[in-house]
Amino acid sequence: MRRVIVVGAGMGGLAAAADLARQGRTVTVLERAAAAGGKLRSVVVNGQAIDAGPTVFTMHEVFAQLFRDCGERLEDHLALERADILARHAWSSGGVLDLHADVQRSAAAIGEFAGEREAQGYLELCQRSARVYAALRDSFMTVARPSPAQLVTRLGAQGLASMWRTPPWQSLWQALGSHFRDPRLRQLFGRYATYVGSSPRRHARGGPSSRETRSRAGRRVSL
Ligand SMILES: Cc1cc2nc3c(=O)[nH]c(=O)nc-3n(C[C@H](O)[C@H](O)[C@H](O)COP(=O)(O)OP(=O)(O)OC[C@H]3O[C@@H](n4cnc5c(N)ncnc54)[C@H](O)[C@@H]3O)c2cc1C
Repeated sequence: MRRVIVVGAGMGGLAAAADLARQGRTVTVLERAAAAGGKLRSVVVNGQAIDAGPTVFTMHEVFAQLFRDCGERLEDHLALERADILARHAWSSGGVLDLHADVQRSAAAIGEFAGEREAQGYLELCQRSARVYAALRDSFMTVARPSPAQLVTRLGAQGLASMWRTPPWQSLWQALGSHFRDPRLRQLFGRYATYVGSSPRRHARGGPSSRETRSRAGRRVSL
């Protein structure tokens, strides 16, 4: 029986540990912080708990499948309640914008916040993101050890054509510039790159930033 040590009890480390344990490995998780969770944590400021990391439960199905694979049900461990407002954004220069789970409601909110042209830009960004997601979900995102060379093989001719239309050589920042004129919206959607330790101003060819490398090291799995 091979023993496994997982370094880091963030979501990545815990998911890897659960997956390896259900495959019959003996797993030890090492965590340097006082509690598990990594970026998924809250800090108390003046008696008020504030989320310091993720606020949106992204890709629920991935977690549901992980629990199913382990012979459990996610809903038996987590009480999930769908929130209408995903996040409220405020700028010191002025303006407050709520984004909703519903795309059309978000578009309406953006229309009121920054005008009809920006609302249209948001809807086009959603369509474009859906195309990128469809092209990359099975070919890259859910692959255990994705690499650019494998990606080309998995995408095939049709997939490559849809990737070409995304277009992959642009940074997120450049792409957002073609959807929004309002700098607040470009800033808002650009920040999503920072969730995974990346920068909206870097494109894929630039390779991982030092923060990305550190983040990967934080969930390294030793066999
Ligand atoms: C501000 C912010 C908002 C975000 N919002 C969202 C969101 O709304 N939705 C979403 O899906 N994602 C969001 N993310 C992204 C999400 O939080 C991360 O992708 C995810 O939590 C990363 O998990 P991880 O296990 O890879 O890394 P981490 O959570 O960073 O966990 C790494 C763990 O390893 C430990 N560690 C590192 N080195 C060692 C060592 N040498 N020895 C022992 N332990 C070690 C660390 O203490 C830490 O606990 C957000 C991120 C940030 C920063």
